[in-house]
Amino acid sequence: MILPKGIYKKVNVICRNYLWHGSADSNSPGKVAWMNVCKPKKEGGLGLLNLKLWNVAAMGKHVWMIATKKDNVWVRWVHLVYIRDKNWWDYSPKVSDSWYWKAICQVKDFMKSYISSQQLVAMPKYSIKQAYGRMSTGFEKLHWCNAVWGRLNIPKHRFITWLAMLETLNTKEKLMKIGVTPDNWCLVCGTDVESHSHLFFRCEYSKQCWSDVAVWLGIHTSHYDLVSLIKWTHRKKLSRFKKCVIYCSILSTVYHVWCERNNALWNGQIRVPGTVCKNINFVYIIELATFSLGMSTLVTTVRFPTCMRGSVGGLWSLCVWISGRLFP
Ligand SMILES: [Zn+2]
Repeated sequence: MILPKGIYKKVNVICRNYLWHGSADSNSPGKVAWMNVCKPKKEGGLGLLNLKLWNVAAMGKHVWMIATKKDNVWVRWVHLVYIRDKNWWDYSPKVSDSWYWKAICQVKDFMKSYISSQQLVAMPKYSIKQAYGRMSTGFEKLHWCNAVWGRLNIPKHRFITWLAMLETLNTKEKLMKIGVTPDNWCLVCGTDVESHSHLFFRCEYSKQCWSDVAVWLGIHTSHYDLVSLIKWTHRKKLSRFKKCVIYCSILSTVYHVWCERNNALWNGQIRVPGTVCKNINFVYIIELATFSLGMSTLVTTVRFPTCMRGSVGGLWSLCVWISGRLFP
């Protein structure tokens, strides 16, 4: 069934409000356009279902049945009444034809951009998922997506870093442009405009956090912006596990810097960078151990060797220990 535009627009509004505001009733816009949220993760979206496109893919089954002349009453009737001896792929309906038939012809014309007549006819069985996959991709693949959506990362860290990568977090620079705040000064240092690049990398506070995390990880890099830091990690000759740990730390630092900024905004307080780094370390020791062993095992049975407990220097030992279990 072809959904009327009003239906999928209303469903999209409910989904959008739920994603950004946790409730179906809201008039505030989202931070990312819904069309971009529905892009696949590797192309910078969240991979949510684009209802309109899914409906087109589902209706594509009618197009496929007509193209392959399936033996059923409806297909025979369509060929007899509408198409007659014309070529289905180039067929155009008359103005006086029914709304439903014209809509099927529109679906066919839309599908022509993604699939050829020969490819459609060659399909032994029509798959809505396959058709949707063909129609929903085609944007530029982004190198940072695998790092952000890695399975080792904590979901809330992924989400905040995804927004930071798209530069759609409500920084004061952005809030001032829409008239929410009277100034755009950084809430943490108060010496520069609070843009994404300043807040996460150029601010003295975030610089100290990155420096502490780099020392903790034992890495040396001069790449202090998200895109090039992820690219640098990707190109570095390290094991897959170590790269995952570095990606986790990048995401965690972004998340904690954003939390501290919000703490400064709402409570007028901010923790010293060293405390933030310790928090990242603690979260990761728990996360890495949980990932490899499962929380129940961690809580009840795991006792880390004494040399690994509470020691920053012991982190790599812990990682090696866990990596031995992950990639034996
Ligand atoms: Zn600052």
